[in-house]
Amino acid sequence: MPRPDPLELAWITIDCPHCGERYDAPTDPSAGSTSYVEDCAVCCRPIVVDLIVDADDDLVEVRVRREQD
Ligand SMILES: [Zn+2]
Repeated sequence: MPRPDPLELAWITIDCPHCGERYDAPTDPSAGSTSYVEDCAVCCRPIVVDLIVDADDDLVEVRVRREQD
């Protein structure tokens, strides 16, 4: 019997708008469409991540931008 995963984490690829590096980060699409700030894993500057999630909790779009934009 498969065990349900309570976290349902999805991995997104973040293209840092500051340093241009790309890395993967876990995110939780079950919270719905949201925006949050994540520090770049490479340069540690804040990145605003916009998650667009549909009614089935599927991630449809990820946008990243600088905090001051
Ligand atoms: Zn960076």
